[in-house]
Amino acid sequence: MKIGIIGGGIMGVCLGYYLSKQGTTVEIFEASPTVGGLAGSTSLADGTKVDRFYHAILSSDSHLSGLCSELGIVDQFRFKETRMGFFYRGRIHSMNNVVEFLRFPPLGWIDRFRLGLTVLYAQFISDWHKLESISVEKWLLALSGKGTYENIWLPMLKAKFDGGFENTPATYIWSRLVRMKSTRKGANQKEQAGHLIGGYMTLVQALANQIEANGGRIYLQKPVSKVVIENGCATGIMTKDEFHSFDLIVSTLQPPVFQRMLPDAPSDYRDLLGQTQYLGIVCPLLVLDRPLSGYWTINLTDDSLPFTGIIETTSYIDPKYVGGHHLIYLPKYTAPNSHYQKYSDDEIKELWLKHLETMFPQFQRSWIRFFNVYRERYVEPLHTLNGTHLIPPIESPVGNLYLASNAQIYPALTNGESISRKAQEVAELIINKYSISK
Ligand SMILES: Cc1cc2nc3c(=O)[nH]c(=O)nc-3n(C[C@H](O)[C@H](O)[C@H](O)COP(=O)(O)OP(=O)(O)OC[C@H]3O[C@@H](n4cnc5c(N)ncnc54)[C@H](O)[C@@H]3O)c2cc1C
Repeated sequence: MKIGIIGGGIMGVCLGYYLSKQGTTVEIFEASPTVGGLAGSTSLADGTKVDRFYHAILSSDSHLSGLCSELGIVDQFRFKETRMGFFYRGRIHSMNNVVEFLRFPPLGWIDRFRLGLTVLYAQFISDWHKLESISVEKWLLALSGKGTYENIWLPMLKAKFDGGFENTPATYIWSRLVRMKSTRKGANQKEQAGHLIGGYMTLVQALANQIEANGGRIYLQKPVSKVVIENGCATGIMTKDEFHSFDLIVSTLQPPVFQRMLPDAPSDYRDLLGQTQYLGIVCPLLVLDRPLSGYWTINLTDDSLPFTGIIETTSYIDPKYVGGHHLIYLPKYTAPNSHYQKYSDDEIKELWLKHLETMFPQFQRSWIRFFNVYRERYVEPLHTLNGTHLIPPIESPVGNLYLASNAQIYPALTNGESISRKAQEVAELIINKYSISK
């Protein structure tokens, strides 16, 4: 069986790996010059390769580590104890152990207790379906109380959603609380973050090599323009003016992007694909000659700041793996029509640095080695209250046409762990449906 895969991000290469392992002939079509998509790397001006966007792997990412073992790259994992802080009224407050939590100045005793209760309560919810119809605001207010909500959650939610989040279900915060808690081990609840030497690209490259070893091909700079549909079945794809024929096609693109290449699909399916909303991102990478704060993540509880958080990945990546640099990402998640996406790189740089200087008075511009701005429009799917019926299915109504997209990952967060799981699920569905055996 000859299978065409559209998109060479993690989903595309994981899917290509699982399908080619079963003896199918896989061809992946990727629009950009490299595989990896959002998890790909970029070259700094001195040639050092670093993650375009910050990526951490957690010790609880069991599917991902199983995949890395299978590929023989598990020895490339490095984990380190990390710290998390909150920026509140001009100061960074460390929040890494019970003592710090009990002292956490922004909140009074009762609010602190209720915040702790919210995190613990989330760990005991096994049936997330009941959170589907409760808004994140209502759920947090009920559990954490007004003080914690207004001082901590509200500014963080406003920053994350670049404005409104009225239609966001409580599953949004529940899945985050469960994932973050999973990094904290033992009685002291110390947090750990990890990476592969070389970033996610080490995994992506290992998968790409294995696909080719299994007889598959990966075409770069070959954007797919159209899926050809004849008599209700997908028969191939168009790239520029070439036709490529396939027995089966799987798109791994974000549904609204996939929709554009389906002019001949049923209109209700096209409408469904078009309804999925995504947050975008504007993400400057500040490369310094020294650490900025030593915290992995600083959560911001001040929504006048233009960025959503401060992520210093060299708090867990030894700088020797990234050219001796210190990497600080200053992301701004953007709503579909956000004005931030319209700012030039120079405007972003000026605005971001001005705010950073007020947060870190000791910070000097002479510490900066590089300041690069990366942007993407389709980054994180936005799920809505009671909205599971809006998630497009894996099997499309067009024969031999499938969708394996990060929009179908819910309520789990979209990351290497959940994407590699989804890719395996889709590969198994196809293998079973077509009785493919090696
Ligand atoms: C700021 C940020 C931080 C993150 N942090 C983490 C983290 O800490 N840990 C973690 O595990 N995950 C993290 N993630 C999430 C992770 O990067 C993504 O979930 C994952 O990379 C998505 O993979 P994907 O294959 O679904 O989509 P994508 O990476 O978007 O892949 C889609 C691919 O399709 C290609 N394409 C688009 N149009 C066409 C076309 N017409 N024809 C052919 N190809 C096309 C694109 O070029 C792209 O390569 C983060 C993401 C971001 C943005």
